Amino acid sequence: MKVTFTLSRRNPAEPKLPKNYQLIYDIVEQSGLGRHLTPAEIYTKALKRRPGIGFSTVYRGLERLRDLGLVSELHVPGAEAATYEPVGPKHAHFRCSECGEIEDVPYAVPSRTLKALALEHGFTIDTERVTFEGHCADCAS
Ligand SMILES: [Zn+2]
Ligand SMILES: [Zn+2]
Repeated sequence: MKVTFTLSRRNPAEPKLPKNYQLIYDIVEQSGLGRHLTPAEIYTKALKRRPGIGFSTVYRGLERLRDLGLVSELHVPGAEAATYEPVGPKHAHFRCSECGEIEDVPYAVPSRTLKALALEHGFTIDTERVTFEGHCADCAS
């Protein structure tokens, strides 16, 4: 089932984004949770809605939205490009080493494990990114 969001989840009280950035935000948001779009895919979608928009505008917009915490940027080992997804609940990722498909996995390292690691090594942990690798259901069969 494909879920389409028609309403932006942004708080209307937040300062307005430049038009092009708002478009990029909407594209990532409307892709829905569980989709991971590359800058090239976002650019293709943006072009359909705003002919003439430049790839560098899309690229800069993604960086800016990431810095503002409005989209999540994901670097999965083995993937050619960073991908972008809506900001949502914490989750891990699975990447199929055969077809490259990236899936969300509802998993987070237990906080007591993080605390124990931090204590043992004397560092602090701000964030963790977990990526599993293997073969997706389609490729495994
Ligand atoms: Zn696969
Ligand atoms: Zn994800």
